[in-house]
Amino acid sequence: MQPVRLGLVGIGKIAVDQHLPAIAANAGFRLAATASRHGQVEGVDAYAHIADMIAVARLDAISLCTPPAGRHALALTAIEAGLHVMLEKPPAVTLSQVEALVGAARTAGVTLFATWHSREAAGVAPARAWLLDKRVEAVRIHWREDIRRWHPGQEWILGPGGFGVFDPGINALSIASEILPHQLVVESATMDVPQGRASPIAATLTMRCGLAEVRGEFDFLQTGPQDWSIEVDTDAGTLRLGMGGALLQLPGEAERPADDQEYPRLYERFANLIARREIDVDMRPLQLVADAFLIAERRVTDPFIF
Ligand code: NAP
Repeated sequence: MQPVRLGLVGIGKIAVDQHLPAIAANAGFRLAATASRHGQVEGVDAYAHIADMIAVARLDAISLCTPPAGRHALALTAIEAGLHVMLEKPPAVTLSQVEALVGAARTAGVTLFATWHSREAAGVAPARAWLLDKRVEAVRIHWREDIRRWHPGQEWILGPGGFGVFDPGINALSIASEILPHQLVVESATMDVPQGRASPIAATLTMRCGLAEVRGEFDFLQTGPQDWSIEVDTDAGTLRLGMGGALLQLPGEAERPADDQEYPRLYERFANLIARREIDVDMRPLQLVADAFLIAERRVTDPFIF
């Protein structure tokens, strides 16, 4: 079978760190072109705008690595051109945009894949399997990282539709909504928004999973050790996921070693979805963030400079 001719859109940090190696390692894809205003990939046809790329490059599919604001229009342009589309997380900035993309993909008969890379982390599937027959008593989510270290100069992240600390925080919610046995329900939230910015730099979230309390703490100003962990207290002891879902520790067991295959798995899944012309869009993590934005008590904090 011929490889899928892929266009990569938004050549920034995640495109370079993860998408390019995963595409190169997957014989089912051939990187045929890129669309980015400044970024380019050596040896690959480069366009500044997606419409020019689609018009010239004879593509089968595109993968979008731009920030979430503006992604809806890019995805719709590709879908209406009959291309399969893979979306970085979060899939868009509003729920209605995602729903509209699903409808457009259905009408066009193309694959739409809203990725949640953290769900592909090594510990997530075994954590889900272990929790299936347990009673969840309490959940603690800690997602604390240093914005200056991981997102240097990414002004968009604190802008409208940038999600702020929920840009990484939505990864925790993608894992929690995958592994916990009941639907998560948002009860309350707080958000610290730096003066002059639109999106939070820190937040807390109180949710329920059945009757069990799920507490989330999200902080973009964490210096020292970085912490992307989820602890689930159950009737059979406490499950701990560390390193963004990569490390799993079950009660009475040693921590399981992790192998980072998140993006190779995403592209494998995209290839399978394309072969079956299927749509894979789970809006639950975005719904939780949207609920948090609906209910949050907001505090304006000191201005933030990168
Ligand atoms: P980034 O480094 O800022 O790269 C995004 C690229 O998109 C930019 O380099 C820019 O390239 C292009 N772009 C198009 N429209 C833009 C706009 N209005 N503002 C800024 N850039 C624009 O961001 P990133 O870290 O790669 O994140 C992109 C997406 O991947 C986000 O949704 C993020 O949540 C997700 N993600 C990031 C990470 C991570 O560790 N950074 C991990 C997993 C997922 P041109 O200037 O050439 O157009």
